Amino acid sequence: MTTAPTAALGDRELALRDRARQVIPGGMYGHMNVEAFSSAHPQFMVSGEGCRVTDADGREYFDLMCGWGPVVLGHRHPGVTAAILDQLERGDCLDGTSPVAVEYAELLVDTVPAADWAMFCKNGTDATTTCVTIARAAAGKRKILVANGAYHGAAPWCALRGAGVTSEDQAHLIHYEYNDLASAEQAAAEAGDDLAAILVCPMRHDVRRDQELAEPEFARGLRALADRTGAALILDDVRCGHRLDLGGSWEPLGVRPDLSAWSKALANGQPLGAVTGVDALREAARSVYVTGSFWYAAVPLAAGLATLRELRKGQALPDMLRTGTRLREGLAAQAKTHGYKIRQTGPVQMPVLYFAGDDLSLGTAWAEAAVRRGVYLHPWHNWFLSAAHTDADIEAILDRTDEAFTDLRRSAR
Ligand code: PMP
Repeated sequence: MTTAPTAALGDRELALRDRARQVIPGGMYGHMNVEAFSSAHPQFMVSGEGCRVTDADGREYFDLMCGWGPVVLGHRHPGVTAAILDQLERGDCLDGTSPVAVEYAELLVDTVPAADWAMFCKNGTDATTTCVTIARAAAGKRKILVANGAYHGAAPWCALRGAGVTSEDQAHLIHYEYNDLASAEQAAAEAGDDLAAILVCPMRHDVRRDQELAEPEFARGLRALADRTGAALILDDVRCGHRLDLGGSWEPLGVRPDLSAWSKALANGQPLGAVTGVDALREAARSVYVTGSFWYAAVPLAAGLATLRELRKGQALPDMLRTGTRLREGLAAQAKTHGYKIRQTGPVQMPVLYFAGDDLSLGTAWAEAAVRRGVYLHPWHNWFLSAAHTDADIEAILDRTDEAFTDLRRSAR
């Protein structure tokens, strides 16, 4: 099958951008500012269904970003939507949290071997910040080891960009290199007797570079380093959590963190973050003052509970593994046929694709061609599969990415 590429951004899109520039700084901010990565991606979306999203001009795309991670079961998953509507009819933001918080905490603790307790918040940044606060409270120490280039949120203590962030905000961070245990040991030595925590992502998923899985010796080495120094090992599972392994993304490695930060996929798109931890840190977790006006809202918690119940049925994760594998194999074959050398790295459920020797211009042109052909994906941030992507959807996506390779080849002539 073939699809005609859409020519340019739609009229509604352009009009919305004009209006947005008047009332929203820069027209948009943060990771969803599409002008930072593309001249072809729409900025505005109006609806989503399963593995498809629709932009303001009514153009439909196969969604390979899934809301940048949260949508793990597909947009408007019927079971999750029913739970949302049911809770919404009874109330969302009440004077006390809903019993569903207890039910969901029980299910999370039952699902995650390293979790003896759970607390809820809104975002990944809330979750990582809370983990760091608990670790500092437990240890009475300040230093946090973080990997170079790792994203743990947009708060000043961990932001990767400099504007508005002071060196004092990050004065107690000491950096190590991902998958380089010796550098982590050295960072710990630098912290001396002031080390509170080692913060690490389940894999290296920094933007604009190949993804790197954690080497088992590295993960085990960090665990041993934390044990030796009394620091808390914090796994930032915000991006990978509940897409790769329900028990936590380092379960397959047999390495259990003391604290885990969760968000994105927890509630299939509803605003929810979580911190889980071990018994030894329960008292510290009780002692810190962390909160937010919306942290107790019942609707996202009901969505989280419905999402986890669905994930625990056991079909979604294997499905994503299967469809992701087919997507990776299909893209590899297409690149070869079209004479391009590409690299695809990281888990197949969270792919990223780069062209060999590229300064991201070829990758951006290909991603833009894909979007014009009706596949929404990113040139340098990892993509996300959902359980709503069927085998047939993947074939339809591959038809379009094949056309995108053709477009790329034509435009190079
Ligand atoms: N940690 C990781 C690994 C992330 O990928 C993100 C978000 N991309 C965050 C923390 C911050 O999450 P949020 O944007 O929800 O605050």
